[in-house]
Amino acid sequence: MIQLSFHGAAGTVTGSKYLLRTDDSAVLIDCGVFQGRRQLRQLNWDPPPFDPAEISGIILTHAHIDHIGYLPRLAKQGFRGKAYCTAPTADLAVISLLDSAHIQEEDADFRNRKKLTHHKKALPLFTKADAETAINQMHPVPYDDWVSITDNVRFRMRPAGHILGAASVELEVADKGRTIQILFSGDIGRYGNPLTRDPGEPSNCDYLICESTYGGRLHAPEDPRSVFIDLVREIVEREGILLIPAFAVGRTQQITYLINELTRHDLIPPIDVHIDSPMAISVTGTYCKFHDYHAIDLKQMGGHGCVLEGKRVFLHRSRQSSMELNRLKGPSIVLSASGMLTGGRILHHLIHRLPGPNNIVALAGFMAEGTLGRRLADGATEIRIHKRPVEVGAKVVVMQGLSGHADFHELLHWLEPITNAPSRVFVTHGEKQQSEAMAQHIKEERGWDCHIPTLHETVEL
Ligand SMILES: [Zn+2]
Repeated sequence: MIQLSFHGAAGTVTGSKYLLRTDDSAVLIDCGVFQGRRQLRQLNWDPPPFDPAEISGIILTHAHIDHIGYLPRLAKQGFRGKAYCTAPTADLAVISLLDSAHIQEEDADFRNRKKLTHHKKALPLFTKADAETAINQMHPVPYDDWVSITDNVRFRMRPAGHILGAASVELEVADKGRTIQILFSGDIGRYGNPLTRDPGEPSNCDYLICESTYGGRLHAPEDPRSVFIDLVREIVEREGILLIPAFAVGRTQQITYLINELTRHDLIPPIDVHIDSPMAISVTGTYCKFHDYHAIDLKQMGGHGCVLEGKRVFLHRSRQSSMELNRLKGPSIVLSASGMLTGGRILHHLIHRLPGPNNIVALAGFMAEGTLGRRLADGATEIRIHKRPVEVGAKVVVMQGLSGHADFHELLHWLEPITNAPSRVFVTHGEKQQSEAMAQHIKEERGWDCHIPTLHETVEL
């Protein structure tokens, strides 16, 4: 018997958790939390639909919290095995799990003090201590090496682009005299990102689990370099602040790299860049430490292998130094989290910079419905921050070319090296429309049998 259960990222993009079970072993691929709507987040509090103690090992494709954030909870509930991942993923996981635990502990504390909870006592989903237990179980493995989890299950990681150290997983399961190959895509990134390796060529497989975040979309063909050249020139002319809300993992590093490169080639006038996010700064440290996981060699390009190399890049860790940025005079660039304006230091910058007509707010990437970022992108003339109205006097632009996810064309391109049709393809990690579109594209282009699993569905392989 070989069974696969979809305990997350089925009908949605978050909560990735796939359970592979044979007669004598159980392996989990990804261990993420659900994010977004309240009904989804509520699922994180349900008891796991399996016994965490019987899991032999967990394979983590990459360090985004919707792929690793449930690990501390499983560790607390009895998971004692190893959590396999690449070395950069392990490093990034330390930063994001501890950060996530800290935010949850603070939030629970705030709710209890302000009596904002319907429960007897608001609790964090996991604590710093739970995160530390999970971190100790992480076991780094290199790309391409086969690793055995049990006698009958082995796997290897392949580059997936997306963020530093992200992987697809090729898994081989032996059961009662037969051996099957299963390929989990993980999150496939875009080709040509200098700070990650391009997605690797997948091997033939019996079963394919394919993400579909942008299964129905094509990215606009704009070149982020030319967008940035125009933006920087404009902000210098306006003598204003170019405020860029950016995700701490991936996006901040990509933008810093881009600005440094354009400056080096004299394509933009020299300009100060302020990175105001302690987590983004720590994550950038990991990007520098693992520069051999980049597609390009930053050392050969005259730097020391670090995307933060730049005479005019300034880092702001402390609250004090962040506050001092409120007095900053333009032209300057300020990068801060969170990317969709759902919290963090960016809110204070918006309060100070949004009313100023000389300033520009450049939104990078996808803004989910219901977020402040989405409202700005949709052209709001006034928004509310901390219950106070803030007038939008600044110019607001949306940069399309910086997505971390492949669109359907790029996903189909990634699948090209697979020459033998898999017995079945499971299309996951997408909103309903996106998964349906991806399944349709795969059927039309390759003629493969596709199925979109529902949450907690179990299939026999
Ligand atoms: Zn991801």
